[in-house]
Amino acid sequence: MRITVFSSKAYDQLFLDAANADQSHEIFYQEPHLNSSTASLAKGAEIVCVFVNDIIDRDTLKILKKQGVKLIAMRCAGFNNVDLKAADEFNIKVCRVPAYSPYSVAEHTLALVLGLNRHLHRAYNRVRDGNFSLNGFIGFDLHGKTVGIVGTGKIGTVTMGLFKGFGCKLLAYDVAKNTDCLNMGANYVDLDTMFKQSDIVSLHCPLNPATHNMVDANLLSKAKQGLMLINTGRGALINTQDVIEALKAGRLGSLGLDVYEEEADLFFEDLSTHVIRDDQFARLMTFPNVLVTGHQAFFTQEALSAIAETTIENINAFSKSGSAIHEVSIDRLA
Ligand code: NAD
Repeated sequence: MRITVFSSKAYDQLFLDAANADQSHEIFYQEPHLNSSTASLAKGAEIVCVFVNDIIDRDTLKILKKQGVKLIAMRCAGFNNVDLKAADEFNIKVCRVPAYSPYSVAEHTLALVLGLNRHLHRAYNRVRDGNFSLNGFIGFDLHGKTVGIVGTGKIGTVTMGLFKGFGCKLLAYDVAKNTDCLNMGANYVDLDTMFKQSDIVSLHCPLNPATHNMVDANLLSKAKQGLMLINTGRGALINTQDVIEALKAGRLGSLGLDVYEEEADLFFEDLSTHVIRDDQFARLMTFPNVLVTGHQAFFTQEALSAIAETTIENINAFSKSGSAIHEVSIDRLA
């Protein structure tokens, strides 16, 4: 089948071409994000392959439908950027990669925690500058600390296991309890209790209407003084302005982000010679106790291979039977 890949980078091409080594499909790579202005780049394609910051809204879907697109193949787990209702109306199927390597994201979460706690981002620059002072670098032992995991699905559970290895006490919050987490000794509590009792809270739930801005001023006002907050889920799980205020007030002790609400205009691009116009992001960059990575938690060899292979498996199944393996639809969500 003919596939147009949007938001494509050299690494996408490398891994997708490897997964399509038998050349069952004709793949065309496009660098721009998919949105209603760029949808025409998919002319002639039956399938478009998209990523986290593509905008697959009603207008985009309408254009894709007119051009004959039948399947949106997400090469990621989250699908908050697709209007599933409109896709259903236009009879365009949507599939995703529900699991690739939960270890990739869980391990990056720990990298943010350890980096922030031991100030590695600042130590790196200090030592390179010949400054071996330790002032301001005091961390804390993870052992014995209380860690709250919001969203105990695949990634949250692996992350919890890593914290357990450090000897942490475990709290969990989810709409459904996970036996693996209970077996690790996690206590399921409400969000207020989690924020009151935890030294570290890490977000691993999907972005949906119920979780949008779930970390706001109200919840942060209940947080334990000096809480470390980590978000590798989706940017809009937190209210950025409220988090900035909590950092200024000292209520939040540190913040580790791999995702940012307005990341679509920033992440995955080299903007080092541009002026950053996003004032909230610029403010975040001024805090010594904030560590931001540009949506790279998934970025391991194993994850990229698995993403490409599952994407091609989805497309193979769709080309044979008209249904992809991992479809998402309004019906299934209901
Ligand atoms: P998953 O579906 O296995 O787990 C999600 C969990 O969140 C489930 O247990 C679900 O019950 C829970 N949940 C749903 N609604 C909730 C709510 N209102 N409150 C609390 N919990 C709720 O998903 P996963 O594979 O563990 O991925 C989790 C999220 O991580 C994805 O949705 C995606 O947004 C994000 N992610 C980020 C990266 C990255 O590179 N930063 C990579 C992959 C996934």
